[in-house]
Amino acid sequence: MENPDHINSYVILGGGTAGWMSAAILARALEHTDAQITVIESPHVPSVGVGEATIPSIIDLLNYLNISQIDFVSQTDATFKLAIRFVDWLKQGTEYWHPFGKIGSQIDGIPFYQHWLKQQKIDPSFEFTDFSPAVALSKQNKFFIPDPKNPTNLSSTSHALHFDASKVAQYLQKYCLNKNVNIITDHLVETDLSIEGNIKTLHLESGRQLDADFFIDCSGQKALLIGKALRVGYDSWQDFLPVDSAVAMQTEKLDIIPPYTLSTAAEHGWRWQIPLQNRTGNGYVYASDYCNNEEAIESLIKHACTNSKAITDPKVIKFVTGKRKKMWHRNCLSVGLSTGFLEPLESTSIYLIMRAMLNFVQVLPSKSICEPSIKEYNRLIDDEYNSIRDFIVLHYCVTQRKDTKFWRMWQNLSIPDSLSEKLALFKSHGRLYKNPSDLFSQDSWYAVLEGMKVRPTSYDPLVDRSNFNLIKQSFIQTKQALWFNASETLNHEDYLKRIKRARMVN
Ligand SMILES: Cc1cc2nc3c(=O)[nH]c(=O)nc-3n(C[C@H](O)[C@H](O)[C@H](O)COP(=O)(O)OP(=O)(O)OC[C@H]3O[C@@H](n4cnc5c(N)ncnc54)[C@H](O)[C@@H]3O)c2cc1C
Repeated sequence: MENPDHINSYVILGGGTAGWMSAAILARALEHTDAQITVIESPHVPSVGVGEATIPSIIDLLNYLNISQIDFVSQTDATFKLAIRFVDWLKQGTEYWHPFGKIGSQIDGIPFYQHWLKQQKIDPSFEFTDFSPAVALSKQNKFFIPDPKNPTNLSSTSHALHFDASKVAQYLQKYCLNKNVNIITDHLVETDLSIEGNIKTLHLESGRQLDADFFIDCSGQKALLIGKALRVGYDSWQDFLPVDSAVAMQTEKLDIIPPYTLSTAAEHGWRWQIPLQNRTGNGYVYASDYCNNEEAIESLIKHACTNSKAITDPKVIKFVTGKRKKMWHRNCLSVGLSTGFLEPLESTSIYLIMRAMLNFVQVLPSKSICEPSIKEYNRLIDDEYNSIRDFIVLHYCVTQRKDTKFWRMWQNLSIPDSLSEKLALFKSHGRLYKNPSDLFSQDSWYAVLEGMKVRPTSYDPLVDRSNFNLIKQSFIQTKQALWFNASETLNHEDYLKRIKRARMVN
């Protein structure tokens, strides 16, 4: 007999990346039940239309949804991403890499970074990321997906995707239709609450009224349910991350499609370049205290259109960095931009959508909402947001740039206590501890810290227990072998062509 306390109907408000990703995850989790899932998207409000770089967890999502990577890559004009290349962040004329996957491997149970640090004091000719397979591949525009049955020295790499956000929305919409998700194109005008304060009825522009047991707010920055109807407040993090604007535009495809995102520090912020199969996404993220929209547009056009023609007009997007005080409140969960926003420096927003929904389907509520379960859910997601925020602040707060007011500002800006503590610990012996909520691995932190030339005063004394002569000899061989094996793999573009052919055959 059906349990009367079960949730039978879910309404997802919004058909942007968050809406369709949430619907797909929910539909997959509930596919053997008779729960009704409905997505409402407005005919008047376009989705934000950016959000095209990801981190490797996107592959886990495809696996969860049982979507073939080959099919997805082909249909969303996706390219592979092995790393982010950061240019001019430390000072103008410098660059460093934040690769996915491992950098070197532990020796005698101690992180490779510590052994490299000791070596560095004797012979500074090796960069830390010289020992990253992803960097060896990226620098040569190569791509490779490791075959678990055939391990090589490139096997510890991992990859993410760059994709066309609107094609991803279409792809997921089709996926949802096949899983019996209802789609309504209509515009929310008003929301009724029940006496207890839960969301009860959505009033749509057409006159239609929609009741449901549970609501997922994917309405973007307007946060129409969690913010406007339920009045859950928003914590701004602008004191730590003062950039509040972006201008985005698309240009033609690059002649050579790199397997990485390019992030270049600019006068009043930074620019992204995201290569897709058929075009390139470009953007300039800036602080409006130092730069107006016209200046930002001019600067983006100048840099993005040097070797490539524009195919869209520049579009300005404003945002407030921060997060909702509670992501889940009563019978409403907020996902995507309605929850919060962290600038796309490490491509984490789509990951946070996925995390929010995968955590949610683990603790699906009943009609009699369980407060302790909501509290724990909110705590876990808060911890993730905080740890990502700290990682993003790190990219700025240790810069040596002083060429504009924007960069000088970072000398005096306060940083979160959690980041100060992490840096203090690191600066003594280079030790980093990973909390369960940390998205980014120790290697990621080491890569950015070293890229920004933040070094501990000394290496971990535990390193002195290892046979350093042997380790020293392996450095040169390892670096050369990685470079050579990477050079033997396919060009990124050839790999993409191979994927297209494989799709046609299947
Ligand atoms: C400049 C910038 C760059 C970014 N780059 C990246 C990146 O590289 N990687 C990454 O992971 N993330 C990135 N993001 C974040 C990413 O774009 C978003 O997390 C993602 O697109 C989710 O957006 P959304 O679906 O929450 O909101 P939106 O895309 O704004 O969608 C909102 C939806 O709500 C609907 N809606 C609004 N009002 C109503 C109404 N009254 N009635 C019915 N429906 C309504 C709209 O029609 C729309 O479908 C970036 C964001 C910005 C601003």
